[in-house]
Amino acid sequence: MVRVHNFSAGPAILPEEVLLEAAEEMLDFSGAGMSVMEMSHRSKAFEGILNETKENIRKLAGIPMDYDILFLQGGATTQFSMVPLNLLKNGTADYILTGNWAEKAAQEAGNFNDVKVPLSSKDENYSRIPDMKGYAPTDSADYVHICENNTIYGTQFKELPDTGKVPLVADQSSCIFSRPFDIRRYGLIYAGAQKNIGPAGLTLIIIRKDLIREELPGRVPLMLRYAVHQKSDSMHNTPPTYAIYITGKVIKWLLKNGGLEGAKERNEKKAGLLYDTLDQSSLFRGTCEKASRSLMNVTFTSGDEDRDAAFIKGAAALNISGIKGYRTAGGMRASIYNAMPYESVKVLCDYMKEFERTR
Ligand SMILES: *Cc1c(COP(=O)(O)O)cnc(C)c1O
Repeated sequence: MVRVHNFSAGPAILPEEVLLEAAEEMLDFSGAGMSVMEMSHRSKAFEGILNETKENIRKLAGIPMDYDILFLQGGATTQFSMVPLNLLKNGTADYILTGNWAEKAAQEAGNFNDVKVPLSSKDENYSRIPDMKGYAPTDSADYVHICENNTIYGTQFKELPDTGKVPLVADQSSCIFSRPFDIRRYGLIYAGAQKNIGPAGLTLIIIRKDLIREELPGRVPLMLRYAVHQKSDSMHNTPPTYAIYITGKVIKWLLKNGGLEGAKERNEKKAGLLYDTLDQSSLFRGTCEKASRSLMNVTFTSGDEDRDAAFIKGAAALNISGIKGYRTAGGMRASIYNAMPYESVKVLCDYMKEFERTR
């Protein structure tokens, strides 16, 4: 068996330890005589998994009791609709545009209400995060939306916008639990699990309780109401049980390995090695402004499409997988999420140097 160096942007690499544990429990989870996949979501055993996972998330990220944690489905993309449906009152919302995902979120919100775009780096091909200094939310804004880590362009907010009393909503799909954060700065965080914390199928929501409203303007389906999921403890219908179970294991793995501080240290070390290699290279270059560089998705190019293609082809022979850039962005992208070992990043960097030397 060969496991590749998996730089996929998502679904993405998981800790080997977690996969092995899950394999061991595949036929019999903790004496239940069945797999978690085969188990009723109303069973004591699954209830235990869900509650433990929630408590561990509180512990890992310091989530206080005035925030709720919800396990939903539909991906981050469904949150593009749920956020405006639940948070818009009579006003509008500010969307800061830093890439494709932010654009898609703004577009979807625009289907429900008039949204504002106070800051955007679209004109610079999203190669940086706009300067947040001097930014203040639009007067009537019900919330401010950001995409905190831009998976496609390889940029990440280093400083959050100061939104005052207006709730900050962040799409953290590709950076959740990669470093410590102050939940008090946010009203709502959402993330598809499949990049940093688990398998596809689960969307994690951390929401300040006062933002959950029973009464919503217009007609909103039950499944798209935070209040419905809150009341039923994420069990309004069958939740993605297996995805929650694996995510629970990843959260435990993070707790065991130094929590978010530990994650940050490892992630900075990996990103540091890769960016240093890029900055010292006379062939490759990073595609975004240094001050905006992401810890999670490192985008780069040799400046020539054919050479990039040759680099990606050569990588496959070394079991380096998933480094082709997003279809519209081109070039290369190495996604180095929480579970990515330093050793794999080292293999990639050594290959970059070798490719440059022998070109
Ligand atoms: C992958 C990604 C999405 C889309 O997530 P789905 O779970 O496929 O809906 C949205 N936002 C960001 C930042 C992403 O990286």
